[in-house]
Amino acid sequence: MTIKRLLIANRGEIACRVIKTCKKLGIESVAVFSDADRYALHAQKADLACHIGGAAASESYLNAQAIMDAAIKVKADAIHPGYGFLSESTELISLCQENGVIFVGPSVASIADMGSKIEAKAIAQQLEIPTVPGYNGDDQSPDALKSQVEKIGFPVLIKASAGGGGKGMRIVEEASQFDEALKMAKQEALNSFGDDRVLLEKYIVRPRHIEVQVLADSHGKVLHLLDRECSIQRNYQKVIEEAPVSHMADSVRQGLFDCAVKLGQHLNYLGAGTVEFIFDADTEEAYFLEMNTRLQVEHPTTELVTGLDLVEWQIRVAQGEALTINQEDIKANGHAIEARVNAEDPANDYLPEIGTIKLYREPEAEGLRIDSGVTQGSEITPFYDSMIAKVIAWGNTRGLASQRLLHGLNDYSIGGVKTNQEFLTSLITRPAFHQELTTQYIGKQFPEGWQPWGEAMHMAIASAAYCVDQQNAANKATTGSPWQALGSWRLTQTCGAPAISKMWMQHGKELIEFEVQGTNGSFLVKINGLPDEDESTHNVSLTLPRSGQGDTWQVEVDGTRRSLDVVIHNKHVALSSPRLNRSYTFLSLEESQLGEVAALKNSSNVIRAHMPGLVTDVLVAEGDKVEEGQTGIVMEAMKLIHNMPCPCAGTVKSVMFAAGDKVEDGDLIVEIEPEE
Ligand code: ADP
Repeated sequence: MTIKRLLIANRGEIACRVIKTCKKLGIESVAVFSDADRYALHAQKADLACHIGGAAASESYLNAQAIMDAAIKVKADAIHPGYGFLSESTELISLCQENGVIFVGPSVASIADMGSKIEAKAIAQQLEIPTVPGYNGDDQSPDALKSQVEKIGFPVLIKASAGGGGKGMRIVEEASQFDEALKMAKQEALNSFGDDRVLLEKYIVRPRHIEVQVLADSHGKVLHLLDRECSIQRNYQKVIEEAPVSHMADSVRQGLFDCAVKLGQHLNYLGAGTVEFIFDADTEEAYFLEMNTRLQVEHPTTELVTGLDLVEWQIRVAQGEALTINQEDIKANGHAIEARVNAEDPANDYLPEIGTIKLYREPEAEGLRIDSGVTQGSEITPFYDSMIAKVIAWGNTRGLASQRLLHGLNDYSIGGVKTNQEFLTSLITRPAFHQELTTQYIGKQFPEGWQPWGEAMHMAIASAAYCVDQQNAANKATTGSPWQALGSWRLTQTCGAPAISKMWMQHGKELIEFEVQGTNGSFLVKINGLPDEDESTHNVSLTLPRSGQGDTWQVEVDGTRRSLDVVIHNKHVALSSPRLNRSYTFLSLEESQLGEVAALKNSSNVIRAHMPGLVTDVLVAEGDKVEEGQTGIVMEAMKLIHNMPCPCAGTVKSVMFAAGDKVEDGDLIVEIEPEE
């Protein structure tokens, strides 16, 4: 039977993705939408759209009966479930069977077999597919589980048998933590999946997530479409995915392909599925984790390297066609990397964002694919997950794919809600991204949590901005020698090479030295003397606003771009954005050479204004005992708030200004009698 009208039981990017293939195949697409999605992109893009219920997923996208009612109403002859929601629901398939509607996916039996991790693991063991050492038996009593834990050895991972999306997982490092962790895992599993059975696994300390795409028809043919690596994860959820896998012996990969096909054949599998493995980077052993009986979020990476349209094949095999491709035809052409763009604030513990997308412009470039579910004016509501788009880049090498991904992420304009674009670019621009990856990647790269740019990068921007300011001043100087206008020290270079400017800054008690090389807004900045690093080098590009058009500069550091307000006054450079306020003061050549830093450090018992401004708050009074570092004065200058600390511990001797007073650069505000 040929599918003529296909209902897509999903929303967002995956609904839009399926609609694209429907258009290509001449199939009418039917979207379903909840109250919250009345104006959503997927509902507009489809040929027809049906309202199915309330905003809460349980009242709409998770309501199998409401979806079936819609399919009957519009006379759809098939349902594509996408991923998530009802994609692995035996209830929806049963309803399809009762009503003579084709379900674009595997059978109830395959989904049921693979739906529980306990049973899936038992089937894998029966097929002699290696599984993670652990316990997946029927005895679920706490005592039985506890005795198994002792056998497995710590650390142990407790996993919900019905789990998905990393929910219901708990690491147990030692015996004393087990009872509590088991209780929590069972509770979470019951709440999320209505099934509190758990399995126990040896916790692999340096795991890689490797998966194999399979595709099967109803005539007994099961193919694998190579592998993907999804090791860059946060909270057990994938962030960056790629195809094919690098840094792994071909013999190991072939072994995984064979296991995946063997499992697919055993299940009489139909359609697209993914067999997931965990690879222990220390022992180089791979184990079966689970099988996802649906299309995966990361399927475009496989599409870009195999040239196949997975949704097209899902539809074709669902309507009974035989696969016309053979295993030998499937070869990886180049490399593809996908990044999941979420509406969230990575600098604030990845808090999901809600709001309206006020600005929206997708990048267009060779080798770049954007699968998105939003457009300008789309609402990000609190009812569904925060993924709004995927940027997928292809290149004939992994290096080119990652370069294109970087440009794609940087050129993707999404305004109105915060997104994780900068976080994603910082993940793929680290040197470690080109080495063996493990699921610890994010934790290792950002042990303190992710922040847009680190201190050294801000200092590099400030020094380059200062350099630009001085170059401009020199160009403008009409009298005397332009060199007089230069506060920093220029080293002459051989003819033609850009000069290097040297400048210095006092940072805490350290003297930091900068070597800034470049002109026309592009600089290479070398920083010496940072407390935690011997030397740090950054590429900085600066695009200044036209004169009279504000202070917002376009700044790019090491491949990541953003807008910053930059204000330069004498030797002070202030950088600001909605969540950032930093100011730096450069030293004159004399100050740096004459040991001024040392002098400042020793004699400092005063708070001085370091630029003209307004005292907004005085937090100390004469006679107060103060600690070193305690805020003494709050000042507003150059549009920023500056908390000015007491330089030493002691007793406040005098306070010269009050809140509301104007101060000039260098004015003495507070004097402290240092403690003996
Ligand atoms: P879910 O179905 O919730 O996605 P999975 O079993 O697929 O759960 O595992 C998700 C992720 O959890 C894996 O990609 C891996 O990062 C981590 N994980 C799973 N099992 C183990 C294990 N035994 N040791 C270490 N990490 C694991």
